[in-house]
Amino acid sequence: MTIGILSLQGAVSPHIRHIASLSQQALRIRTEDDLRKIERLIIPGGESTTMLRLLKSHRLIEPIIEFGKSRPVWGVCAGAILLAKKVFNPTQDSLGLCDIFARRNFYGNQTDSFTASVRIEALSREMECDFIRAPDIEPCQDSAEVLAEYAGRPVLIRDKNILVSSFHTELRDDPGLHEFFLGF
Ligand code: GLN
Repeated sequence: MTIGILSLQGAVSPHIRHIASLSQQALRIRTEDDLRKIERLIIPGGESTTMLRLLKSHRLIEPIIEFGKSRPVWGVCAGAILLAKKVFNPTQDSLGLCDIFARRNFYGNQTDSFTASVRIEALSREMECDFIRAPDIEPCQDSAEVLAEYAGRPVLIRDKNILVSSFHTELRDDPGLHEFFLGF
C-alpha cells in the first residue's frame, strides 16, 4: 500500500519513518498528480495557515476534497484543523471533510507544549502523545466518533474514512496510531 504525506510544510519525515517501519510505501505529495498514486493520505502537523496558503497555490484544495470523499485521510494537529468543517480562533478556510469544529491553539502556545499519556480505546492501551500548539476538536455531527479524550476533551476523532488527532505521535517510536490508520 502507498501512503501519501502532504509535503508542503510541517513534520513530514517522521511519518515517512513510521510508514517504512510498517513495511509500507510512503510518497511525498505536492501535486494533484501525486494523489493518483496513493491509497491513503496523511496531512501532517505544522502551521495550518501556511499550509492552507500553499494548498491554494498548488491547486490542491479540490483534488484533496475529492480524494477524501472516499479514501482514508488522517489529519494531525494542523492537519486536523485543515480537515475541519469549521475553524475558530481565528476563523479560516478549511477542507470540511471531517464533521468537527476546531479551535486553534486551545492548549496555549509553543512553550505550553506538553506530553500526556492518552488511553486509545481502539488500541486497548495508552500512548505517549505530544500536544504542540494543539487545537481543541469536537464533533459537530453524529457521524464523528470520539476515540480518545484528554482532560475531558476529545483529542482523537473518526468520521467514517477520516481520522483527526489534535496531538502528535509520530515524533516518538510508537507506530500504534499509524498502524490503526493503515487498518481503515
Ligand atoms: N497551532 C497550529 C495551527 O494552528 C498547529 C500546530 C501543530 O500542528 N502542531 O496550525
